[in-house]
Formats: sequence, C-alpha cells, structure tokens
Amino acid sequence: MLSSARQCLVTSHVNPDGDAVGASLAWWSYLKAAYPAMEARVAFPNRYPEFLGWIEGAAQVAVYTDDKEKEAIQDYVKGCDLIFCLDFNAINRLDSLSEALADHSAPRVLIDHHRQPADEFDLVFSDISMSSTSEFVYRIVKALDGKMLLSKGAAEALYAGLITDTGSFSFSVNTPETFRMAADLMELGIDKNEVAGKVYDSYSEKRMRLLGYCLQSKMRVFPKHRAACIALSRSELEEFCFQPGDTEGFVNFPLSIKKVRLAALFMESSDRTHIRVSLRSKGKDLSVNELAQKYFNGGGHFNASGGKYFDSLKNCEAYFEKILKDEF
Ligand code: 5GP
Ligand code: MN
Repeated sequence: MLSSARQCLVTSHVNPDGDAVGASLAWWSYLKAAYPAMEARVAFPNRYPEFLGWIEGAAQVAVYTDDKEKEAIQDYVKGCDLIFCLDFNAINRLDSLSEALADHSAPRVLIDHHRQPADEFDLVFSDISMSSTSEFVYRIVKALDGKMLLSKGAAEALYAGLITDTGSFSFSVNTPETFRMAADLMELGIDKNEVAGKVYDSYSEKRMRLLGYCLQSKMRVFPKHRAACIALSRSELEEFCFQPGDTEGFVNFPLSIKKVRLAALFMESSDRTHIRVSLRSKGKDLSVNELAQKYFNGGGHFNASGGKYFDSLKNCEAYFEKILKDEF
C-alpha cells in the first residue's frame, strides 16, 4: 500500500490529546522520510490543545473546524489514495470530518489501541496491550525500516504521546517493551526531561486556578460508592478563560484519593448542546469502557473512557448518582 500510494491523509480523533497528536505527527514524519515521493498531510477534526503546539509539524496540521481550512481538507482528501486513522476505533470519532471521508474509496488503515474497533477499516492494527498509539507507531516503524528513520522531532512526538497516555508510565504500561521504546527514543536524541517539561509545565495561571477550583469547590466524593465527580458549566469554564485542553488530566486527580476508584468529569459543551463526559477507574475490576458504552454513548479503554450526555449538567450529575446506586 505504502509503495503505491501517491497521496495520503493521517488523521485522529476529535479533541486530539497528546497521543493522538504525537502518534499522528510521528507517523507523518516517518512517511515523509521513507516515501519522499508520496504527499502526506495531517488533518484533525478540531484544534489540538496549545500545550502540544511545540511538537514538530504541529503548525502544519489542518483543522476541519477552521472555516478557512475546511474546503482545502475536503479537496485534499478527494485526491487521497490512502487514509491512516490513528488512535481511534470508529469513524464517528472524527466528528464532522467524517463527512470528508464518506463514500471515499481509498483504503483506510487503522493504527489504534482502543477496544472493539469498528468494521470500517480495510487494514487493522489494533492491540489493547499497547500503552499508546505512539508505541504502536514506534513498533510499526521499527518493523518496517528500523527506528533510524525517526527524526529527533518524531521521537519527541512519540515520547509526548507515550507519557500523556500512561501518566508518565504510571498506568497502561503492560510490557517491558514500552520501556525499551523509551530507551530507544533517548538514543534517538530526545531530552526526556525537556519533553516532560514542555508537556506538563505549561499551565496558564487561569488553568492552574481552574484546577484548584475543581478540587476545592467542585469535586463531590461518594465514599459509599468509592467514586467522585467534578461537573463544570460553561459559565464556570468561561470565568477561567477556558482553552481547549485546559482540563486535560483533571479527571485523574480524584483517583489519587485512596478510597476512590471511579472518577468522572462532566463539562458543558461550548454550544451547550451536551455534556462531555470523561471517566477514569483504577484497578482491574472496574471497566469504565463498559460504563461509557452503557450510559454515555461512548467508549475507550478499560481504565479511561469518554462519552456524551444529552441533557443539562444538573441532570447529568443526578444521572451519575443513579448509576452509582444501580451499579455499585
Ligand atoms: P478523555 O476522557 O480523555 O476524553 O478520553 C478518554 C479515552 O476515551 C480516550 O482514549 C478517548 O479516545 C476515549 N473516548 C473519549 N470520548 C469518547 C467517545 O465519545 N466515544 C468513544 N468511543 N471513545 C471516547
Ligand atoms: Mn491513545
């Protein structure tokens, strides 16, 4: 497929996170190095958070919700004969960008580590034992060409994806291979401390205060159910000048309470049409993937999932309490 393709697209899920951006940009960088005659571009459904903007190639990413870029993406996709789908398992995770891919005959290649990939791809690399899609990309590149075709910038992108999807190696690391990958990336010249600094020490003051507000005033703990939730309305978010990505990682904080094993973050969407739901669990007994599927039209991983709720924030919290009573 690679040697015959002339124009390809690399894409990832809506609200692209560190792994989505890191894996996509590293794969794109590899494609350009290994197949110089092929044209390759990265397009995301919406904008990636500011704290990932330093990743090599991020400035060239096309964003579908940007009115100036929408048509160019549509035209580019029409000319594609190969489409790479990274870090998601169903086309609807592309949000409105999925319309650009509809009725397209180009083969779709999936590279992903979520459960239950949809039957919408022509070639599927799907493995839930991978810490991250970035690790998957790394292993595929290594198998195809050896790691030497990864630039330092691509190695940094992969490291950013790896640490954001594993909480810096504290979860989702299932094999020693993940550490070998980190070692290899260091051999490719990355400064891992510098990458971690760029990813984590980049809060605006408002973002830091929003975190404080969430933990001090908004977090509700349900000791009987060993659960906690944080619900944020649009006006609260606006009070803290919310930027995409500002709440990244917030849902994990309640899990640091010893007795809490389920955490939820509810956020009113910018158009106030629904509530964005993030769910996290710790341990091997509680699958938030199942909860997200059963109650929130979503999915994801065993310990980290997301979805949507189509009613008010207040009702969402009440709905969550009802789920706790029913399930735990
Ligand atoms: P987050 O809570 O960080 O948005 O997402 C956690 C995980 O769940 C990610 O791996 C993400 O891809 C997945 N996820 C988030 N939202 C959805 C959703 O609406 N549907 C599905 N299927 N997966 C989601
Ligand atoms: Mn991922």
